[in-house]
Amino acid sequence: VGERLYVGMDFGTSGARYALINKEGTIRAEGKREYPLYMSDETVDWVKSWRTTLFGLLEDIPVSLRPAVSSISIDGTSATTIIVDSNTGEPLCNPFLYNQSCPEALPIVKAIAPPNHTVCSGSSTLCKLVSWWSSLSTPKSSAALLHQADWLLWLLHGKLGVSDYNNALKVGYDPEIETYPPWLLSQPYSSVLPLVQAPGSVIGSMTEDIRTRFGFPKDCVICTGTTDSIAAFLAARANQPGKAVTSLGSTLAIKLLSTRRVEDARFGVYSHRLDDKWLVGGASNTGGAVLRQIFTDDQLEKLSEEINPAEASPLDYYPLQDIGERFPVADPKMQPRLHPRPKSDAEYLHGILESIARIEAKGYSLLKELGATPVDEVFTAGGGSKNEKWIKIRERVLGLPVRKALQTEAAYGAALLAMKGAVQ
Ligand code: ADP
Repeated sequence: VGERLYVGMDFGTSGARYALINKEGTIRAEGKREYPLYMSDETVDWVKSWRTTLFGLLEDIPVSLRPAVSSISIDGTSATTIIVDSNTGEPLCNPFLYNQSCPEALPIVKAIAPPNHTVCSGSSTLCKLVSWWSSLSTPKSSAALLHQADWLLWLLHGKLGVSDYNNALKVGYDPEIETYPPWLLSQPYSSVLPLVQAPGSVIGSMTEDIRTRFGFPKDCVICTGTTDSIAAFLAARANQPGKAVTSLGSTLAIKLLSTRRVEDARFGVYSHRLDDKWLVGGASNTGGAVLRQIFTDDQLEKLSEEINPAEASPLDYYPLQDIGERFPVADPKMQPRLHPRPKSDAEYLHGILESIARIEAKGYSLLKELGATPVDEVFTAGGGSKNEKWIKIRERVLGLPVRKALQTEAAYGAALLAMKGAVQ
């Protein structure tokens, strides 16, 4: 038997990627595709677009490597929901996109769910399901709810109605007791909910049709996936409690692996299960978007060279693009604070970078206060992670080692899930 390979696919907001890795985690092939735009009745036909992209990515996998593929897993955008006919798999309506809100369903959901539950948000999967269910004159007995990743995986394995507990969190699944809670099971629409497995567990073999069409081996299996942001965390391989990933993109998001589950709706903090551990997350509105309003990426690089990261900046800002913050301070009326602006642009930038680092540190101490495992090492991803001076500033402010994550693509994280499933 030669080298075995594992495929991960990431279906993000603007396009999809694949990564093909070997047992050592080395990337053997990778690629990406934009979503083609198909219209039907003046609305975008997302289902067709995703299906075309999935098969396009399978075609992009080098023919010579396909016979070595042991397993495939896929992550999708969280709370992107498709309701299909449970006999044929055909969609019964347009998919509900991750950020689509169903405000009319929110009071109904709030009336059945415990206060501050993850499903109590207009864009939760449960609100989407309730919205669809209430819009029907006759109940649909043969419907099945799938998340985007579940549906794409279904195209490959053919068993309808399987999900993973990361995707299922926003429909109300409780990963701690590994079941849907009683308040959900007592609802008439509970029959449409998918079966839930741990991310990266084998669902079944690839259908013979697809296997022979593309040249994948007979023992190629399809594994449950996860959400796109969890897949990006998995890519960094921060797999011990206390290891964390800070993503410095347009906003600042932190994710910490913890032995304890912590939740606090005030700060938008909740935990996803990862096997026997919990992935605790929080997202601040500060981040790179503010930097981009003030400096070009070129300026950011040049000005950063002038910064001495060993020196603390006396400037105390709270960089925000708009009014309002949720984490680590819950204050919807918080004003952005970017003054006084010193004459020197390098000093200004130093003050902003240092202030964002303090918000990051405050985020990790809040998670600790809420009961999470204390952070001991930070991996970093996103556009801000390439700034070496900022990494040094953050090491000083956090009092912890900060390292650039070697892998940050969600597709790579999904490939690790495929590997996990195949070697189990
Ligand atoms: P997103 O995907 O969230 O839009 P990215 O991960 O692509 O964001 O990161 C883009 C952000 O990175 C921009 O907001 C920009 O301000 C920031 N950025 C780019 N270069 C640098 C740099 N050298 N130092 C700090 N921040 C940077």
